[in-house]
Amino acid sequence: MTKTTVNIWAEKSLAGEPLTHEECMACLKSDEIELLPLLHAAFQVRKAYWKNEVTIHIINNVQNGNCPETCSYCAQAKTSEAGIADYAIKPESEIIAEAKRAYDQGAYRYCMVLSGRGPAPRRVDKLAELISKIKQTVPIEVCLSSGLLNEESTKKLKAAGLDRLNHNLNTSESFYPEICDSHTFQDRMQTLLAGQAAGLGLCSGMIVGLGEKQEDIIDVAFKLRELGTVSIPVNFLIPIEGTTLKTAGTLTPDYCLRVLSLFRFLNPKAEIRIAAGREVNLRSMQVLALYPANSLFMQGYLNTTGTEKDPTLQMIKDAGFDIRSDHGIDALLDQNNETKTDTYEVKMKTLADLRPELQV
Ligand code: SF4
Repeated sequence: MTKTTVNIWAEKSLAGEPLTHEECMACLKSDEIELLPLLHAAFQVRKAYWKNEVTIHIINNVQNGNCPETCSYCAQAKTSEAGIADYAIKPESEIIAEAKRAYDQGAYRYCMVLSGRGPAPRRVDKLAELISKIKQTVPIEVCLSSGLLNEESTKKLKAAGLDRLNHNLNTSESFYPEICDSHTFQDRMQTLLAGQAAGLGLCSGMIVGLGEKQEDIIDVAFKLRELGTVSIPVNFLIPIEGTTLKTAGTLTPDYCLRVLSLFRFLNPKAEIRIAAGREVNLRSMQVLALYPANSLFMQGYLNTTGTEKDPTLQMIKDAGFDIRSDHGIDALLDQNNETKTDTYEVKMKTLADLRPELQV
């Protein structure tokens, strides 16, 4: 059997070789490479490192809003007029109880997010205490996203038991000034390097759909490869009214799936996460994203809601995947009768359904 282009990409990826720039561009273009063979090839790489496993992450805005930064896509930015609930950091007991709840719902990782440019030294000490308490009481992996950090802070957080540090690159260095003017791409890189120096696993990804070019996506995927990023959340923009973003592009499910495949080929061992926007942008094609990606967020994103537990788990199970959790997927699905918003309830057709013309 002759090897197809996408088979060659999968082989290169598995051998640790990067795709060329031309191959990356072809991966993103629907007129050059058909989608299903592409997803199949990306799945060969995903399967080699992650088998049929999906890791579920639950995000917790432990501090929300009132951010002095100007990220144009973000509802919490000082420049945003989006109506959100602002609050200072939640009490420790609330954050720990929510970690336990996330674990009980099947989450493998609990992602705590704080708005703001970055924490002051006293706040870092508090966060270190909090992380240590969570690690002592809940058997869950903990990730922190708290803005810009220096090496002294990342070392304290690592010593407290933090598993991963999240700090997204969001877009390429050359496009960065178009999306934010209160900090730079290099500021973000410095935080990632500080995390790396402390021995923290790096979680860093991008937001697709900010008006960037395909070259920007390729740049970010290569930069994350260079950094040895272990976890890559790929967000697809959810446009929020009141934010200042002016250049948002229009995403299609086909394009989102190609982007995820590209990240998989260039970062074969990484945990690639279908992050914000899977419902809005992938729509009926969401399940296909599990072929290049091996992780997702459940129960919403930073300031927008997302699919609840049961429909998410059912989607994973229906496609033949399993979750990485101490709880079995079936046990979690049977746990209780919480809102099954996306499940289909069978009803008998009425006469009005059968003969709509009679209504006229
Ligand atoms: S993305 Fe983070 S730093 Fe930027 S405005 Fe939003 S909360 Fe602030």
